[in-house]
Amino acid sequence: MTSVAVIGGGPAGLMAAEVLAQGGFQVDLYDAMPSIGRKFLLAGAGGMNITHSEPSDAFLSRYGAHASAIKPLLDAFSPSTLCEWIHGLGIETFVGSSGRVFPKDMKAAPLLRAWLHRLRESGVRIHVRHRWLGWTDDGALHFARPEGEFAVKADAVVLALGGASWPKLGSDGAWAPLLAGRGVEVAPLEPSNCGFDVAGGWSTHLRSRFAGQPLKTVALRFTDAAGHTHQRRGETMLSDTGIEGSLIYALSAPLRDTIKALGSVTVLLDLAPDKTPDRVLAEVNHPRGARSLSSHLQSRAGIRGAKMALLREALSAEQLNDPVKLAHAIKSLPLVLAAPRPIEEAISSAGGVRFEGLDDHLMLRGSPGVFCAGEMLDWEAPTGGYLLTACFASGRAAGQGALNYLYHHAATD
Ligand SMILES: Cc1cc2nc3c(=O)[nH]c(=O)nc-3n(C[C@H](O)[C@H](O)[C@H](O)COP(=O)(O)OP(=O)(O)OC[C@H]3O[C@@H](n4cnc5c(N)ncnc54)[C@H](O)[C@@H]3O)c2cc1C
Repeated sequence: MTSVAVIGGGPAGLMAAEVLAQGGFQVDLYDAMPSIGRKFLLAGAGGMNITHSEPSDAFLSRYGAHASAIKPLLDAFSPSTLCEWIHGLGIETFVGSSGRVFPKDMKAAPLLRAWLHRLRESGVRIHVRHRWLGWTDDGALHFARPEGEFAVKADAVVLALGGASWPKLGSDGAWAPLLAGRGVEVAPLEPSNCGFDVAGGWSTHLRSRFAGQPLKTVALRFTDAAGHTHQRRGETMLSDTGIEGSLIYALSAPLRDTIKALGSVTVLLDLAPDKTPDRVLAEVNHPRGARSLSSHLQSRAGIRGAKMALLREALSAEQLNDPVKLAHAIKSLPLVLAAPRPIEEAISSAGGVRFEGLDDHLMLRGSPGVFCAGEMLDWEAPTGGYLLTACFASGRAAGQGALNYLYHHAATD
């Protein structure tokens, strides 16, 4: 009997298993963890943003340098097809005001539950606590499970082992040296959608009083190593060691790459993005009478809380008392970012199996019958549903590729 294995029970692996089971094959799905889909469930904890409703060109542009590799996957399984697929599980979706798409109850658990039920009904056998260790000398898949190690031959295997962020949820990137040892080109796994440390760290005062506090809306700009200026507005917050939040995550790829190229990156924060520089100067210059500087800036320029603390952290007393210097700092406060936070803390990872080493069906060129899918492939994207969409779509493509491979081999064997 044909043996088909999927390793990794995240969205990419489950999707590949579904396609293979629908194609009439008995599928064994293995995962190292005691339960399936842990990162998917965590992604649902703060509101599961499953995809985005923007036009396809804009959607595709979110994959940056990897857009051409992702395009055929989305052509075959688009965001709207993904929504129909979700509806097929009995889960309704809605489009938020930002264009992001969510399940109606914002949660991942009901979707995962319905999906696992459907997979089991279609005959997929799920084996948890099975850690894949690579291949044996005779090409069998090598696993460790609580009872001990064992090997199983598979006619086709889909690897959907995830990236390396949040390793305690299962995806720890331990597969990277295993594949590299087999001659597969793997781009180094790096943090993506992550926070950054400021050079020298914060003062004890700022850290103890303001870490975790939002700066609310700010604008941020910086110039990358190629001289390209990035500018964006959004929400950010102070962390123990630097800054994080959706604005920072969205810029994390160019910030990380600029630090890699130049050793650090200076970002300019605009703490009053709704006011022109002249307006800020006029407000700062407005007579303040007996009021403290804090209450003056709060009432005239909307600078309060963590924003005020950041100004005090960065400016000397002389600069704070100089209206021109203060107004300039409010509109253009330099922060030197020294390093991305460790990959363990990142929402996702960049790097992974390079598309050049895969054929059009996501099969490893040097390993017939071995397919790869999901975050373990070399692409990255901001949050906004782009991560899950590409995981689902690549799982689908790898499952379809494995299906065609098995049909072809069944026909020619
Ligand atoms: C906090 C957080 C919030 C997120 N929010 C969103 C969001 O709102 N929208 C969005 O689009 N994305 C979001 N993401 C990202 C999204 O969850 C991931 O991109 C997605 O889960 C990756 O899917 P995957 O199937 O490739 O890998 P994973 O979901 O990581 O699954 C990989 C599986 O492989 C298993 N595995 C790994 N190594 C082995 C091994 N050697 N042997 C056996 N099994 C192994 C793991 O146990 C795991 O179950 C979020 C991520 C985080 C951490």
